[in-house]
Amino acid sequence: MSPSLPDHGGWAPYVWLNGEIVPAAEARVSVFDRGILLGDGVYETLRVHRCKIFRWREHRDRLLNSLAESGIEPAHSPAELEEAITTLVRANQMQEARIRLTITRGEGNPGFDLMPGKGPSTIVAASAWRSIPGARYREGVRAVIASRRQTGSDSLDPALKSISRIHLVLARLEAAREEAQEAILLGSDGKVREGTASNVFVVKEGKLKTPSAQCGILAGVTRAAILELASQRGIPCEEAILAPEELVGADEVFLTNTSWGALPVGLLDGKPVGIGGGGPVALTLGRKLSELVERECSP
Ligand code: PLP
Repeated sequence: MSPSLPDHGGWAPYVWLNGEIVPAAEARVSVFDRGILLGDGVYETLRVHRCKIFRWREHRDRLLNSLAESGIEPAHSPAELEEAITTLVRANQMQEARIRLTITRGEGNPGFDLMPGKGPSTIVAASAWRSIPGARYREGVRAVIASRRQTGSDSLDPALKSISRIHLVLARLEAAREEAQEAILLGSDGKVREGTASNVFVVKEGKLKTPSAQCGILAGVTRAAILELASQRGIPCEEAILAPEELVGADEVFLTNTSWGALPVGLLDGKPVGIGGGGPVALTLGRKLSELVERECSP
């Protein structure tokens, strides 16, 4: 299969759709899919390095939890989904990729009630892995504390990785208006939750702190890896309630996700954080994370 097909703005030319590899230009999902009509579905973003999925088991378990919480009966087993990702990467002749795995409830009737016709739609799409320039890590990125609050565990539980993300898109737009890369959301109690697409860490006097999973966040696969690496290096780490003032007064703030690794925040709400760039803890843990990915994905 030759990937000399139309460009889809960064997406690789082939996708895996409901069990088949198809050119993205020919892939069809119903306009009545509840994913489109209602944001009724779940997803995962994964990293493939050297043709291997980084921490598949962790992504798989989170996906299964999201599916169970949303009452979506998957059409494919975890093993089939894992195979789908590796087959897709091969079809696109990629070794490094960012994978978006989406499962919607499938086609629905005109009403709101749950009557999916043909069962879930399962879509796996790949895009090129784009490393963030080193200067961004050294200098840190801009972030804002969004005025929009994160949803709560009693409404749309952030632990359920739902495709209903408009509140996060709106928070990201707030950030974009300030020329910032990420918006950090507080919860209804005014305490720090997470970024629109990242988890938040602060460093103060050599100690690491991050909002606990019980606060109502998406517990990132990268967050867990950073916690592991910190503990291996003897860096004290607390999963707790984090006040926004702790971000402002921190020596370092950094954001974690599958695509960014550990990305330092240089400016928060326009004011320098710590030394105003990547601090030693974020940079060290980020480097250790890259080594971990290398080790776990080595052939
Ligand atoms: N929090 C939110 C809201 C996210 O959307 C993401 C990633 O998409 C994360 C945290 C980080 O998760 P991970 O490290 O698994 O990429």
